[in-house]
Amino acid sequence: TPPASAAPDFTGFVHVRGAREHNLKNVDLEIPRDALVVFTGVSGSGKSSLAFGTLYAEAQRRYLESVSPYARRLFHQMAVPEVDSIDGLPPAVALQQQRGTPTTRSSVGSVTTLSNLLRMLYSRAGDYPTGQGIIYAEAFSSNTPEGACPTCHGLGRIYEVTEQSMVPDPSLTIRERAIAAWPQAWGGQNQRDILVTLGYDVDIPWQELPQEQRDWILFTEEQPVVPVYPGYSPAETQRALKRKEPPNYMGTFSSARRHVLHTFANTQSPLMKKRALQYMLSTECPLCHGKRLRPESLSVTFAGLDIAEMAALPLKRVAALLQPFAEGTAKGRKRHDAEHPEQAIVAQRIAHDLVARLRVLLDLGLGYLSLERSTPTLSPGELQRLRLATQLYSNLFGVVYVLDEPSAGLHPSDTEALLKALHSLKQAGNSLFVVEHNLDVIRQADWLVDVGPAAGEKGGEVLYSGAPAGLAQVQASQTRRYLFAETDSRAPRAPRTSAGWLQLAGITRNNLQALDVAIPLGVMTTVTGVSGSGKSSLVSQVLVELVAEHLGQEVEAEEEQEGDPLERTAPVTTGGRIVSGLEHIRRLVRVDQKPIGRTPRSNMATYTGLFDHVRKLFAATPAARKRRYDAGRFSFNVAKGRCENCQGEGFVMVELLFLPSVYAPCPVCHGARYNAKTLEITYRDKNIAEVLGLTVDAAWEFFDEEPAVHRALTVLREVGLGYLRLGQPATELSGGEAQRIKLATELQRQGRGNTLYVLDEPTTGLHPSDVEKLLVQLEGLVEAGNTVVVVEHDMRVVAGSDWVIDMGPGAGDEGGHVVAAGPPAEVARHKQSRTAPYLRRFLG
Ligand code: ADP
Ligand code: ADP
Ligand code: ZN
Ligand code: ZN
Repeated sequence: TPPASAAPDFTGFVHVRGAREHNLKNVDLEIPRDALVVFTGVSGSGKSSLAFGTLYAEAQRRYLESVSPYARRLFHQMAVPEVDSIDGLPPAVALQQQRGTPTTRSSVGSVTTLSNLLRMLYSRAGDYPTGQGIIYAEAFSSNTPEGACPTCHGLGRIYEVTEQSMVPDPSLTIRERAIAAWPQAWGGQNQRDILVTLGYDVDIPWQELPQEQRDWILFTEEQPVVPVYPGYSPAETQRALKRKEPPNYMGTFSSARRHVLHTFANTQSPLMKKRALQYMLSTECPLCHGKRLRPESLSVTFAGLDIAEMAALPLKRVAALLQPFAEGTAKGRKRHDAEHPEQAIVAQRIAHDLVARLRVLLDLGLGYLSLERSTPTLSPGELQRLRLATQLYSNLFGVVYVLDEPSAGLHPSDTEALLKALHSLKQAGNSLFVVEHNLDVIRQADWLVDVGPAAGEKGGEVLYSGAPAGLAQVQASQTRRYLFAETDSRAPRAPRTSAGWLQLAGITRNNLQALDVAIPLGVMTTVTGVSGSGKSSLVSQVLVELVAEHLGQEVEAEEEQEGDPLERTAPVTTGGRIVSGLEHIRRLVRVDQKPIGRTPRSNMATYTGLFDHVRKLFAATPAARKRRYDAGRFSFNVAKGRCENCQGEGFVMVELLFLPSVYAPCPVCHGARYNAKTLEITYRDKNIAEVLGLTVDAAWEFFDEEPAVHRALTVLREVGLGYLRLGQPATELSGGEAQRIKLATELQRQGRGNTLYVLDEPTTGLHPSDVEKLLVQLEGLVEAGNTVVVVEHDMRVVAGSDWVIDMGPGAGDEGGHVVAAGPPAEVARHKQSRTAPYLRRFLG
């Protein structure tokens, strides 16, 4: 029952009985409706399992029961939660952070539905050239046949192949693969053999072939079908043809251009698409100049701009431009309005609506974005705030919004605005269930649910549920220590001095214009600034790319990136170089929150390399040696040892008619992933599947006599992951967990030094007590002679760093400069820095 003092304020309660999702320990709970309820607890304690896995999942399940089976398939359906009963639960909307890259391609304008309104404005109230008829709203979208530029089909760019792009080295012969654009392996040989049959010389340098022949081979649309004699020399082939010898098979010729364009247009594989793209040149479309729309659509203007120009402006500027129209005070419209009074009314209505909606986005600190900005280039926090804004003006009430760390990516000064937005949703008659670590947000809660006491097996209990003040009495709570602490508990430390400088000059990217900046080596630097000020552009984009290029390292993020390869060919204005200091860096490591794998086949044990040691231990047992089982036998990714029914996955997919397919444990191995023979081998009385089922803590005791395994496990415990099971699939891990696994993997490779570590908001998803653990690890990296650069909003982390680079002063084109740089105490005294006032509080 809720404390008597708080009860009268609330209109009603949600009652949860017997929640057992994931690690929840049969939890009973009562939480108020029409209130801001914040779920706290250390990472892995079970907050998300309660808020999303139980409350939201149940609300969604009930909603889906009311819709047709067909419609149900369209939803990403969550598992039915393990819970006895939930009463009093309103319908729920989840505003969850996307983990990994979103797959569907959309823009700020489409997510917020502002694009629809803008198209309506242009269609109904735009300035048309004389004589042109009215154009429907759809024709202002490049995704419709009515709107797309006919030359580039709405892509904005034209892709073509040339002799140079497909034959990069003309001194090679065709046999030596002069035509790089042709398929690799068999496909390429096939084309060569066809050319031999056709009588082309494949053994002289490409450049010596007559131009006419080269053009035919590269560009013809003809597809002759000819006899092929693989393995014959050209002379033998000609003899065989004369004798009408039966060929090995009939082969179809395809010119290099045909092959490239066909692959590009039809392949489902992003990798193949990327390969094809390599041989294509892209140029701006000469008709629409990259604006993607047909000329008639672009001829319509509003406030002097065509719709593409409007969509490219920062939202802040769009709002300012439309404001006079919304108020009916726009200059230069008088005559137009007098001639078309009906349009004047429409323009004012739509502009008014647009301005009201834009205002919400500006209030949430997103005024630096443009409508055309594609969502894959947004941070998860930005995307979540966009969705939040959309909800704010959708005027729903009686709904529960379930949010996942909405303060992620927000500078403390932006958090104020977020709190206001949450407050208005509540005022409108909604409930808010928020998972948060940020103390400024937690302090605003009407009700706190603290989950713990620790993570995984050691968590899953509700330690406290009630008004925030009451948490002060709960000894077991980790949150309590931070929420009620007067000052920071960490002793201030004198900043280290740098061992040298990495000098960047003339950096131009996004909102950075010819920026010069120096990053100290051998210390920990934090990069601060409001959201959109340019921190990620500087650190995660430019710094990482330049250093990677110097080291000849691939930029990981690029490799992992999925989705439309076209995105990457979009030109990024980029300039700048590193003028000195690179000689001190031998390796670059990015520690981010991206998943450590996308399939259940990767897990913590495989990623850290720990599993290699474990498999060797199994292979070295007498029983395994007798049967000649090697280490590979104990991998669930290798045929000989794994369960063949599920191919080592441990579960099988069951297709259901009318319902989303579900995963069920494999009926043969019952989830063990191995075949029976492999499972007969035991090491200290456990088989390999049982070992994968151990938590890190349990394994640490189990392997205490194996130094290599033990050391790896010790590091995992130090980063606070003792509760994870060794075989926990990568797909079940949170971003914060993935990040700490990456850190632990790095920490095992002791004593290298001279490595640059780059982290972008590593504290996301971490409880203050987890942040302390993370800091200890980062300190360790610096002590070992490495350089750490962190983009960060958590002032506790900033205060504990050696050097601060504060970006700003504002966002977008109001940012992009270094406002202040120096040790934390110095930056905290800076007059213009928006970070300074917040940093001061942590410096005592
Ligand atoms: P929090 O939100 O407090 O960080 P979670 O609710 O995400 O914690 O996780 C609680 C526990 O449940 C952790 O031990 C975590 O590893 C585990 N867990 C999370 N998601 C899954 C899943 N899909 N399947 C199995 N276990 C999970
Ligand atoms: P921060 O990391 O400080 O939040 P960013 O570096 O992400 O700031 O953004 C700085 C500016 O550059 C913003 O105006 C943002 O909209 C823009 N920007 C960032 N990334 C991209 C991108 N991939 N494409 C276009 N604009 C971008
Ligand atoms: Zn075009
Ligand atoms: Zn199986």
